[in-house]
Amino acid sequence: MHCPFCQHEDTRVIDSRLTEDGATVRRRRECPQCGERFNTFETAELKLPAIVKSGERRESFDERKLRVSFERALQKRPVASHDVDNAVRAVVNDLRKSGEREIPSRQVGELVMRELKKLDHVAYVRFASVYRKFEDVQAFREEIEKLERDLPGLESLQLSLLGQGAKRDSRKN
Ligand SMILES: [Zn+2]
Repeated sequence: MHCPFCQHEDTRVIDSRLTEDGATVRRRRECPQCGERFNTFETAELKLPAIVKSGERRESFDERKLRVSFERALQKRPVASHDVDNAVRAVVNDLRKSGEREIPSRQVGELVMRELKKLDHVAYVRFASVYRKFEDVQAFREEIEKLERDLPGLESLQLSLLGQGAKRDSRKN
């Protein structure tokens, strides 16, 4: 890196050590031209990306809002709160790992769906139905059928979600 004193284009690392918490590397550098010494600090870039909503509106990521989305979908479902904590953490970690400065809210929604699918099928469908704003009953029905193919053993789900009027053409599995 350039010397901040004389702008010489290269500096030498003469010492490198980890800070006590292990989160930062401190390097002592020396400029071969002017002889000045200075420190640099290296830390992981862990800033969360901004969320881009529809209409290009941006807002900073809010973990509480994310948790509320999970809780709303999981209302009255038998899911332990530490499982919800883990799901929220998984989404946050994925956003961090993305290294992006901005992420469309749609993409966050997909991550939420992925986690809900693992936690609770009813909550998953609840969230997906609102989130994907199914255009008609048919699209919703198709999603449920797709879910049933992916996750066998959901015979009762379709009936309870679609109500009395739903008829199944053929039994799968
Ligand atoms: Zn220098």
